[in-house]
Amino acid sequence: MSSILIKNIIHNQEKTDILIKDNVFSKIASNQDTSADIIINGDGKAILPAFYNTHTHAAMNIFRGISDDKDLFSWLNNDIWPREARLTEDMIYHATKFSILEMIKTGTVFFADMYFESHKILQAAAEMGVRVAASYGAMDLFDEERRKQAILKTQNFLDTPNPNPQLATKVLTIHAVYSSSPELIKFIVETAHQHNLHLHIHACETQKEVDDCIKQNGCTPIEYLDRFGALSDKTILAHSVFLNDNDIKILAQKKVRLCTNPVSNYKLASGVFQFQKLLNSGCFITLGTDGAASNNNLSMLEEMKLCALSAKIQSMDPTAGSAEDVFKIATQNGAEAFGINAGVIAEGKLADCILVDLDNHFLVPNYNLISNMVYSADSSCIDTVICNGNIIMQNKHVNGEEEIITKMKELSSEFKN
Ligand SMILES: [Zn+2]
Repeated sequence: MSSILIKNIIHNQEKTDILIKDNVFSKIASNQDTSADIIINGDGKAILPAFYNTHTHAAMNIFRGISDDKDLFSWLNNDIWPREARLTEDMIYHATKFSILEMIKTGTVFFADMYFESHKILQAAAEMGVRVAASYGAMDLFDEERRKQAILKTQNFLDTPNPNPQLATKVLTIHAVYSSSPELIKFIVETAHQHNLHLHIHACETQKEVDDCIKQNGCTPIEYLDRFGALSDKTILAHSVFLNDNDIKILAQKKVRLCTNPVSNYKLASGVFQFQKLLNSGCFITLGTDGAASNNNLSMLEEMKLCALSAKIQSMDPTAGSAEDVFKIATQNGAEAFGINAGVIAEGKLADCILVDLDNHFLVPNYNLISNMVYSADSSCIDTVICNGNIIMQNKHVNGEEEIITKMKELSSEFKN
């Protein structure tokens, strides 16, 4: 692995030099006179942590704009699931590469994915040089035959070789309590415990999900998942919109990693995440985009802005969802949730970062860079992306991007009708 010296870069409002050796930030000090394989001129740029997207379905970018303006259940049942059944392994591989391109362009170096044919997702992430927590999206819709399939596919995924163990981990998935039988949930939780793996679950996304769970099981989805031993600091709960006080107590106590997906929740009119209340209650919050079919992109910049704004309107308090808190959940917390020693620019941390262009109009004037990133920036501000000590975008260009975009245009023509 090569060394990189970033000269004259703004870090915490001061100009300095940053040496990346192997895959970590090895020295942060001005006027470094070391030689390095690659020198980056940081003039006019600032270094920031990259983003960690803790809930997405990357390949769903292939369905961007194919079905909008519907409620969650008719969107899933009528428009998404029938089309997903037509996806091939090859389509999932190319669509995931395309989505990773979009993530890199918007400053993201990690995504927690929930999908199918996940060996192809591991392959796509390895080729693009980003981190991933990949999983097979197990669900059985309470059907015994489907359950057997879900268990088999989960086991097959665990047996698949990991092409890049340094950057990729396998996690286990329960799609949701409304789509998974107790037998399947039990199997997934036991397997996660047995292999010490993270669990990735959709939970409490809609009021209907909570109402149905109470009707069927006499408890909320959080209490229900807790009965199976599914909740711990290795559990990521996407959405987590509809939580009562007892749910919140359980989630804080068990240090469960919540992932808020404000754009998707707004678009599907699911509800508003209780950001400030959960933060004040000691809950651990991270940020994710959800899939591009319900977003409709994978930009953590847009996600941060809506997260901050929705926190304010939710509590009717403009001090809620501060730029600092929201930036932290999108960076440091996302990395920590998956045990990645990154998310801050500091010596000894894994070298994941973005370099932003301080001459970009969105970042001028620059009284407060974090405020600019949360409330003003778009992807045009991001010049360079480094993941694990490797440059994966420079001068706003990602190797092979033209071919990746052409391929997506070709694939999406299959779904026009
Ligand atoms: Zn989702």
